[in-house]
Amino acid sequence: EMNYLKQINDAKNEADSANQAKSQFLANMSHEIRTPLNAVLGMNEMILRETDDLQLLEYAGNIRTAGTALLGLINDILDFSKIEAGKTEITNSSYELHQLLRDCYNRFETLAKSKGLILDISCDPAIPSRLIGDEKHLTQVVSNLISNAVKYTREGGVYISVSSHESPDNYHTKLLISVSDTGIGISKEDIPHLFDSFRRLNEKENATIQGTGLGLSITNELVKLMGGKLSVESEPGKGSTFMLSIDQGIADHMPGGYFRTTHREQHTTYHESFRAPDAHILVVDDVEMNITVFCEFLKKLEVQIDTASGGDEAIALCKSKRYDLILLDHRMPSKDGIETFREIRGEGKNTTTPVIMLTANAIAGAEDTYMKEGFDGYLTKPVDSVELERTLDKFLPEELKKR
Ligand code: ADP
Repeated sequence: EMNYLKQINDAKNEADSANQAKSQFLANMSHEIRTPLNAVLGMNEMILRETDDLQLLEYAGNIRTAGTALLGLINDILDFSKIEAGKTEITNSSYELHQLLRDCYNRFETLAKSKGLILDISCDPAIPSRLIGDEKHLTQVVSNLISNAVKYTREGGVYISVSSHESPDNYHTKLLISVSDTGIGISKEDIPHLFDSFRRLNEKENATIQGTGLGLSITNELVKLMGGKLSVESEPGKGSTFMLSIDQGIADHMPGGYFRTTHREQHTTYHESFRAPDAHILVVDDVEMNITVFCEFLKKLEVQIDTASGGDEAIALCKSKRYDLILLDHRMPSKDGIETFREIRGEGKNTTTPVIMLTANAIAGAEDTYMKEGFDGYLTKPVDSVELERTLDKFLPEELKKR
């Protein structure tokens, strides 16, 4: 019998390490795919910005749509493998409920409008303004539900309603979020399989709708991890309602009041918020294409840019010249971003210069690692031009910026 138990144990260990290897492989793959995708989307962003040719704008617009979809896919696969490997961490902090809802609304407003659908959020004004929970994952859950509702609805609309029940202890509230659509609906037989991984319903009818069948299983797992419940009611041809119920802490009892969706500026319109012709910035990346993208993104801010294609080159530059900001790639051959960072901080003219880590690694916990190491911030690739600008705005000294 002992022998039998040992065999089971060995088999389990073997399976565990195979699974570990798979997670690592997926993490590496995500890096390898995101890096060239960064270049593709970055170069494409430049075309969008610089051309007035309507035909070219349409082509480049399509590249952006497809590229962004590809990025979403990679993120889904990553999320899925993280959940499977038990690496998804739930971190609770205080957040503003209206802001979370606004984020979700903004993500789908344009898409819903382009399909001629109504997108409406109503929120009980009595719900406390600040709650405690995992804002990032809750946003992801609600966004996934809205995304599906918009995807599987041809006419009518998507209606989100938020209410709450205060629990007796006064420090918690049960948040109820429902996402209803007037879409194709789901048959009774299909409902039990809704949350299965990789499973898509009505394969034939939905063949033209993009999807991997991962969205709802990720959503459901995240809800479970956060201690909530997800349920669904649906009538084929009429529509579906997904209901989420989840306990959240209360950070501020003040009622949130009437919910408004404020309009976000269009992503396509590009504003330079400042110029900084006397600011010196060092960009370090081993992929030349990435450096070109950065320089193009930063052109309008008129900053002075030095570039280095590796750790040693960056360290040498940092010995002789003081920079106002350093953008440093994580994965580089020979000397990686972290080693380079330590040497730059160790001696030379840049021991106090803010350093931003550039990473294609979207694995949970990466953020903590960088912050603990002492980086001032990090940007994930593909780097978004607006986010890059915001980072410069945050870290460049005020006296160098001309508005
Ligand atoms: P997919 O990537 O295929 O959208 P999901 O896991 O998000 O994967 O959803 C699984 C399946 O459930 C979908 O393929 C679709 O058939 C069905 N489904 C999900 N949400 C809805 C909805 N709001 N209305 C109708 N069908 C839906």
